[in-house]
Amino acid sequence: MSAAAPAVVRTRLVVTGTVQGVGFRPYVYRLAHELALDGWVLNDAHGVVIEVEGPGDAVAELIARLRPEAPPLAIVEQVREVPCSPVSEHGFEIRASPASSGAVDAPVSPDSATCADCLAELRDPGNRRYRYPFINCTNCGPRFTIVRGIPYDRPRTTMAGFKMCADCQAEYDDPRDRRFHAQPNACQVCGPALSLPLEQVVDALRGGAVVALKGIGGYHLACLAADEQAVATLRARKHREDKPFALMVGSLAMAQALVTLDPLETELLCSPQRPIVLAARRADADVAPSVAPHTGELGVMLAYSPLHQLLLDDIGAPLVMTSGNVSDEPIAFADLDARDRLAGTADLLLTHDRPIATQTDDSVLRVARGRVLTLRRSRGYVPGSLSLPVPTEVPLLACGAELKSTFCVAKGQRAWVSHHIGDLHNYETLDSFRTGVEHFQQLFELRPELVVHDLHPEYLSSKYAAERVGVELLGVQHHHAHLAACLAEHGLDPGAQAIGAIFDGTGYGLDQTVWGGEILLGDQAEFERIGHLLPVAMPGGEAAVREPWRMACSWLSAAGAGEAVPDTLHGEVEEHSWSQVRKLAQTGLASPLTTSIGRLFDAVAALCGIRARINYEGQAAIELEAACDRAPGSYRVRVTDSLEIDPREAILAVATEIATGVPVGTVAARFHTGLAEATVTVCTRAAEANGVDMVVLSGGVFLNQRLLTLCADGLDAAGLKVLIPSLLPPGDGGISFGQAAVAAARMHR
Ligand SMILES: [Zn+2]
Ligand SMILES: [Zn+2]
Ligand SMILES: [Zn+2]
Repeated sequence: MSAAAPAVVRTRLVVTGTVQGVGFRPYVYRLAHELALDGWVLNDAHGVVIEVEGPGDAVAELIARLRPEAPPLAIVEQVREVPCSPVSEHGFEIRASPASSGAVDAPVSPDSATCADCLAELRDPGNRRYRYPFINCTNCGPRFTIVRGIPYDRPRTTMAGFKMCADCQAEYDDPRDRRFHAQPNACQVCGPALSLPLEQVVDALRGGAVVALKGIGGYHLACLAADEQAVATLRARKHREDKPFALMVGSLAMAQALVTLDPLETELLCSPQRPIVLAARRADADVAPSVAPHTGELGVMLAYSPLHQLLLDDIGAPLVMTSGNVSDEPIAFADLDARDRLAGTADLLLTHDRPIATQTDDSVLRVARGRVLTLRRSRGYVPGSLSLPVPTEVPLLACGAELKSTFCVAKGQRAWVSHHIGDLHNYETLDSFRTGVEHFQQLFELRPELVVHDLHPEYLSSKYAAERVGVELLGVQHHHAHLAACLAEHGLDPGAQAIGAIFDGTGYGLDQTVWGGEILLGDQAEFERIGHLLPVAMPGGEAAVREPWRMACSWLSAAGAGEAVPDTLHGEVEEHSWSQVRKLAQTGLASPLTTSIGRLFDAVAALCGIRARINYEGQAAIELEAACDRAPGSYRVRVTDSLEIDPREAILAVATEIATGVPVGTVAARFHTGLAEATVTVCTRAAEANGVDMVVLSGGVFLNQRLLTLCADGLDAAGLKVLIPSLLPPGDGGISFGQAAVAAARMHR
């Protein structure tokens, strides 16, 4: 470099990604001022546009620092540089957006946990926001849950009714301030307020009360986690018998007293998304037995709103923090509705006057094989976009499945998967599905021309699709959607072929039977079913889902046994019910055929005496996994030449070993190992026969960490490339994105 003053250059930078509403312009403003550069920055339809002018080395430094030093909520995907001619501008300014700025990739970011700066102010008696439960700034606070329309400006958020005081307004207007254009900016003088003094709530919780608490995405029900009587009361009032409750803690140290955390789990727990992280429970965790019966894990999250933080700091002990609903209804988020619905459940209601625009449940993650596995993708992640491997030719809506449902809208290469809607089988959830679809269409300025749906004619999501007028419809097979979702999430070419081992509870098959243990060969556009679990009867149809003992009866009957009630089910099933169900299984009367691995797990759990009836989806399988010990050995699950997985020998072995007093944990472990070995065998053979080297493991059954690990390790050892969903759930929450990927791939072809 010469010693002379470097020549003046001007460069235009086009930044795309999540760069609006996250403090990106003031950040550029500060950086440009620091480097004494001239020019401007503005938001446009594609993201942020910057023009900088000054000495070449200073411009180069700005470009080099732009990405690494970006604000915490920004996701910079691309920075395009265009050289321009210098215009001798003086000073650097933030300019207004061009009038017709149109739709952007990320018009609003996900909600984000209180940042370190705001926490410090919250705890500083000298700060004007000391203990203010709604403190936030450009780097943190509510976003998606308060937005009603676009562009993302205060009048189109639920903060519209609060007029900023002079102090707040001054911060909002100052580009050097951390609260420059922070739409939810507020303070005790001008902003939202709690309905009760916090001390009253703290006292009630300490006294064993159940409190309904308005949070970021909806109401929670809270009580002391160590207080068995309080937790048991909550369980009884919520009509939730066994499903584990999540816990909220005020600090990482408090979390570490409950669960053991590896570095990745710690990182997830402390991330601005603040999901619930499922982790191994410590033996000495001070938690009431009713919090999470029959499992070795606890779901823990860190306080993510200032209100939560104040509460947890004051109480100094973990709280149960479960969705504010009764049984399977959607989480309550509207104040009047919450008052009605939670009246009988909570002893006290703590609310506030900042409305919630969209109900958003807590997200749930876990770590498996050193990687993130998403169980529920909602608050903190939505409405972040996902990339489709090929752009969709027309804007589309994918309606998802039925349980744990989500929908997805897509335009070009971008897909936006909705918040978790819940189980779509009642009026309330269908209503929130409809409202959600309308909201997303408006947010992303999108009119679907194609509506994609599951093939199941009775799913409310399929019926909803059929009601949409003036659109083209496309039905996508359920397990193909699982396969495509995983391939697309990993950015694979739409024509890249893989073997898919797709194991779940229920999915409508092409032959109109209930699929759920499928070996597929396919890409994102097409698939072929090349193998499956041996089909057996589901005696009584849906009743067999709620009563795993029926599947035990059916599998024993298929294996030529089970004339009498097994010992482990005595006291659970009457002799005459057993023989009736056995007759159904054998005649096929009122008993659809199924290849579901979920139902196979049910059968084994029932044979082990773990669970004859379930209280929530997947319960029998979850408890069977939790029961496993470290015993070696496995039960033989045969794979036939036609790639049929036949576990009848294993079923007989389970029944025999249980009857001869082998510990349940050993039987459970051997069954897992046997099924995993068969899965590895069937996938390896299928891959060889078809010249494919990639295997997708997906479907809700793969939430089972033990099965997932055994299968993935075995396939790895066989030299195959294993793909597992990470950003989206392997369960049906990922179906809508898979449907969108199938549609895009078909149009592309
Ligand atoms: Zn902040
Ligand atoms: Zn104020
Ligand atoms: Zn499924």
